[in-house]
Amino acid sequence: MKIIMLGAPGAGKGTQAKKIAEKYKIPHISTGDIFRANIKEGTELGKKAKTYMDQGLLVPDELVVDLVVDRVKQDDCTNGYVLDGFPRTIPQAESLDAALEKIGEKIDYAINVEVPDENIVRRMSGRRACLGCGATYHIEHIPPKTEGICDTCGKELVLRDDDKPETVTKRLNVYHEQTQPLIDYYTDKKVLAEVDGTKDMAEVFSDIVKILGE
Ligand code: ADP
Ligand code: AMP
Repeated sequence: MKIIMLGAPGAGKGTQAKKIAEKYKIPHISTGDIFRANIKEGTELGKKAKTYMDQGLLVPDELVVDLVVDRVKQDDCTNGYVLDGFPRTIPQAESLDAALEKIGEKIDYAINVEVPDENIVRRMSGRRACLGCGATYHIEHIPPKTEGICDTCGKELVLRDDDKPETVTKRLNVYHEQTQPLIDYYTDKKVLAEVDGTKDMAEVFSDIVKILGE
């Protein structure tokens, strides 16, 4: 099962992608997580990506496409995968489709997690990310057991630099301009499914399972 998660930044793509990966036993591939790991390790890719991420801009297509195309060809992806945060532009989607076509594969589902803009800024300002394992929480909706500490690995939870309100507004504009057109793209490919991302986390997941099957 090859799945793409679509939706605005903060819509809950990562939260749901982790649950999908666990239930269907497929890898969760988050380009944002890959960039953040590279930034932490101080790689060349990380240094380049950070300059864009800090401004709320997309990293250029050429820095992300090959990385994902190589990743989905790895052995653990034979039974499928859930892509979170990729594609984010029409050229990225076209490159992915072309690469998959070459190996006789295609995307099965593009799940759009719908959340209106007015809810997004609140979601993002409450998001806390673990510096150690990348787990995400929300200070009101999905709080950790101990404030500021990751339930899973015990490391510190932080507000991501790009989740500050001024950057979130910028990221939302970028989303509407460059990523939202993918909804029509995947509708045309007859693989688009929509879920209401304003429901609570468990309800959104149960709606997704109805689409993907038990
Ligand atoms: P994305 O991957 O789309 O950027 P996340 O999955 O990181 O979004 O979710 C953004 C924030 O909203 C996080 O703090 C997360 O804990 C919280 N969140 C996710 N799903 C829900 C939900 N259904 N209801 C309320 N808060 C949610
Ligand atoms: P995310 O964790 O998905 O919210 O991504 C954080 C940031 O990483 C984005 O705001 C972009 O700057 C960058 N990024 C992640 N995925 C992509 C992508 N597919 N294309 C371009 N930039 C990306």
